[in-house]
Amino acid sequence: MIDLLNFTLEQLTDYLLENNISKFKSKQVFDWIYKKNIYRFDEMTNLSKDDRAFLNEHCTIGLLMVKDQMTSKDGTKKFLLELKDGQLIETVLMEYTYGLSICISSQVGCKMGCEFCASTKLGFERNLTAGEMIAQIMTVNQTLGMSIDRVVVMGIGEPFDNFEHFINFIKIANDHHGLDIGGRKLTVSTCGIVPKIYEFADMKLQVNLSISLHETDDAKRNELMPVNRKYPVSDIIEACRYYIEKTNRRISFEYALIGGENDSDSSAKNLSVLLKGMLCYVNVIPVNKIAEGKFNYDKKKNIEGFCGILRKNGIMVTVRRELGSDINASCGQLRRSHIDGV
Ligand code: SAH
Repeated sequence: MIDLLNFTLEQLTDYLLENNISKFKSKQVFDWIYKKNIYRFDEMTNLSKDDRAFLNEHCTIGLLMVKDQMTSKDGTKKFLLELKDGQLIETVLMEYTYGLSICISSQVGCKMGCEFCASTKLGFERNLTAGEMIAQIMTVNQTLGMSIDRVVVMGIGEPFDNFEHFINFIKIANDHHGLDIGGRKLTVSTCGIVPKIYEFADMKLQVNLSISLHETDDAKRNELMPVNRKYPVSDIIEACRYYIEKTNRRISFEYALIGGENDSDSSAKNLSVLLKGMLCYVNVIPVNKIAEGKFNYDKKKNIEGFCGILRKNGIMVTVRRELGSDINASCGQLRRSHIDGV
């Protein structure tokens, strides 16, 4: 079965044409799916009987099964979703002062091996299709009866390690015939897959880019984030400068503050030097606890001191409010299975 959620409008047009269905039908099908929220071909009344029969026989609209749903004290909701092949992923809905934001997964598991992140601990299973990324938004919309218009690709997986599907996802999410989510309301985060940062820059999309930096010293970053052995800090920064030059857009750097590891005054000074003069800001995230993590999570983090030094050096900083940690729905806590104790 072909999942129609995988197709951009152009791809759907081509697919229908290949099967002798008029190209005008693709917009109608998109309209049923994305505007009218109709997911049964029999209810798509402006399609001919033959067209509906063809779609019923060959195609599907791959919404996901909600296996479990949890709500945090702060209102954050976490969904355990089952894919067609039985694999599990997590998706999180967060409530900010400016509105709702959904955090979607891009892979089943992750290859990157970051020391502090639960998403990688069970290894990598497979990439998600564009349709499976789209379906996370639609499934949550349908379950809660709402229409979420802010998306961060910051759940399980490394989106730039699944680039082609990720870009297709962006096209469908952004298309005004599709989910119609503005580029500026879409954010992607990468641990620093350098060649893809260049490719992404050349596409000149209006999508926000976030870099998971967490450490400026290569030797230490190698330990925290094995991907650094392939793409060291200086290469990432060079790619970011290229991105800014091409797009004139501000980059955000994620920095998970780990007490006694990367939160010293000298770390803050090094970060200030690295980012000086760049069109960017730093998003400091007090590190979240994960079951397999080897850090001393009780150690007090030097949040104020760290941010103060950045600010003094003219670097914009925000401290991310922790959401959903009581249900393991915060940054780095998502995994592709149920976890005991939650
Ligand atoms: N693979 C992509 C997308 C995941 S985004 C990336 O690395 O950017 C998830 C964000 O949460 C990343 O910035 C990641 O580094 C961060 N993170 C992972 N584990 C964390 C933890 N235990 N506490 C706080 N942030 C964490």
